[in-house]
Amino acid sequence: MQDPLEVLRRVFGYEAFRGHQRAAIDAVVAGRDALVLMPTGAGKSLCYQVPALVRPGVAVVVSPLIALMQDQVAALAQNGVKAAALNSALDGRERAGVERAVREGRLDLVYVSPERFAAPGFLELLERAPLALFAIDEAHCVSQWGHDFRPDYRQLAVLAERFPAVPRIALTATADEATRADILRELRLEGAERFVSGFDRPNIRYTVRPRRERVRQLLAFLAGRRGEAGIVYCMTRKRVDDVADALNRAGVPALAYHAGMEAGERAAAQARFVASDDAVMVATVAFGMGIDKPDVRFVAHLDLPKSLEAYYQETGRAGRDGLPAEAWMLYGPGDAAQLGRFIEQSEASEEQKRVERGKLEALMRYAEAATCRRQILLGYFGDGCEPCGNCDACLDPPELFDGTEAAQMALSAIYRTGQRFGGGHIIDVLRGRETERVLRLRHDGLPTFGVGKDRRVGEWRSILRQLTAAELVAAENLEGFTVLRLGPEARAVLRGERQVQLRLEKREARARRQPGERRERGAPAASSDRTGFEALRALRHRLAQEQGVPAYVVFQDNALHAMLERRPASLEEMAEVPGVGATKLRRYGEAFLEALRALPSPPAD
Ligand code: ADP
Ligand code: ZN
Repeated sequence: MQDPLEVLRRVFGYEAFRGHQRAAIDAVVAGRDALVLMPTGAGKSLCYQVPALVRPGVAVVVSPLIALMQDQVAALAQNGVKAAALNSALDGRERAGVERAVREGRLDLVYVSPERFAAPGFLELLERAPLALFAIDEAHCVSQWGHDFRPDYRQLAVLAERFPAVPRIALTATADEATRADILRELRLEGAERFVSGFDRPNIRYTVRPRRERVRQLLAFLAGRRGEAGIVYCMTRKRVDDVADALNRAGVPALAYHAGMEAGERAAAQARFVASDDAVMVATVAFGMGIDKPDVRFVAHLDLPKSLEAYYQETGRAGRDGLPAEAWMLYGPGDAAQLGRFIEQSEASEEQKRVERGKLEALMRYAEAATCRRQILLGYFGDGCEPCGNCDACLDPPELFDGTEAAQMALSAIYRTGQRFGGGHIIDVLRGRETERVLRLRHDGLPTFGVGKDRRVGEWRSILRQLTAAELVAAENLEGFTVLRLGPEARAVLRGERQVQLRLEKREARARRQPGERRERGAPAASSDRTGFEALRALRHRLAQEQGVPAYVVFQDNALHAMLERRPASLEEMAEVPGVGATKLRRYGEAFLEALRALPSPPAD
């Protein structure tokens, strides 16, 4: 039998296994079942791809998305691995061809959709084939607690009985206990060895900004990121279309994706995004499940996500290649109220609603955090960390002030106006503005009228948001209007029994300057040789286009950066570059050596 490390080096061109990869691979190679929980980008695929090559026979990989299978098969082919996909996209002849190859054991891996297991004759086909293992990717799809429930995954339970001698490995990036228990039970994997990694994604920088104007702020964010691929999430389909239009008008080529689009258009947009190395995709959360494009450099949220779980999954699509990436979110005061209204109006049971409210609160704590965002995020998943140094709160700590008096003013204005108004009116009262409504309601006669004159509107908005996050104010959404009421702890503050620490709102001018500055400072191992990178990228682009495959399956960004850093001068030296396996060396080694020779010499250190 081949040595797994040998396979990793020769086929994939990587030097060493990471984290739990080796242990999980050893278990499967030895014929034992495994459950692998690793964050996105940790390298789950190798946990079954290496055993597939080490063990005799064909590895059957269950994967939920057909579009994705195609990319995986293409990426494996680039490494000289014999892989195929078996799904409804094939015509009868093609399918027969793949089935024959499976039966005769001529493939290393075959990717199949979960529906396939219900197709007549499929299990019989597998019984006649020499099988190396079953890999069940995105295994959380079996759980109805998850957001990606796929009833077809339930059929996979049958594998335990029909193929007791074939090891099974289930993989997911979803952390929570309920889902994990479901996977083990539903897939009959109770006896599986478990490999659970920490969920931190240290290369992702988390940033949250108060929302003023989506498009303007997004354009400012994108200005420093030309030529980078990224996803922009919006809450509604309409907003997706509007934002994509606005970007295109502003000269930023953008794609759009949402469930209201016709299936063909959607698939085309997704394919263009995956194939390109600099596309911006504006989308609802319908986009992204299983997108394993490694070079997504940023994920921007223009609206609050549904929960921290969803946020973690969505932002997790950034920086799978381990290079620096950004999770950037805009957050507005109305968001929480709107999400709260969705919860209250849903058909869910009271029990379920309580769970949902708890999730919303956690999300608010994250959005309003004055301390390390990563600590809050990981803490939510039961993991801890030191202040991370790679989030906005760490990099640019908010200044705190004793906000007790300001909180008392705001709470009293809410109380005295009858707990019937939104933030706008409350702020008018605090700042002493004689608007038509203020005068009509005689709110100019209230003792709180004008007490908050010396704070700007933006400051008061920020204070109200923070009070809401701290549950001193309850924001309720009534028929589209947000109404502020006193929260459970408000009285203690009004009576002077409780102090309130608040974060000072920074002026936007300052906030806007920061990303650029920080980027230089936090610059990673990634090569700074921009011209060289562009040259290699152009070559990669050409090679990918000739074959009709995504750019990243030729080489990922880190391989290009490593070439620029090491400047290999021979095929032998090229073979040492991470990501250059034997097959890619043969196919592309010379072309990239030539491109490197054509570059000006690297800047001296
Ligand atoms: P996941 O499925 O866990 O999200 P992938 O399997 O797609 O992650 O791997 C993420 C990235 O890490 C890929 O670019 C992959 O090539 C790279 N990778 C995985 N394992 C290793 C390793 N041992 N050494 C170097 N790169 C690795
Ligand atoms: Zn931090």
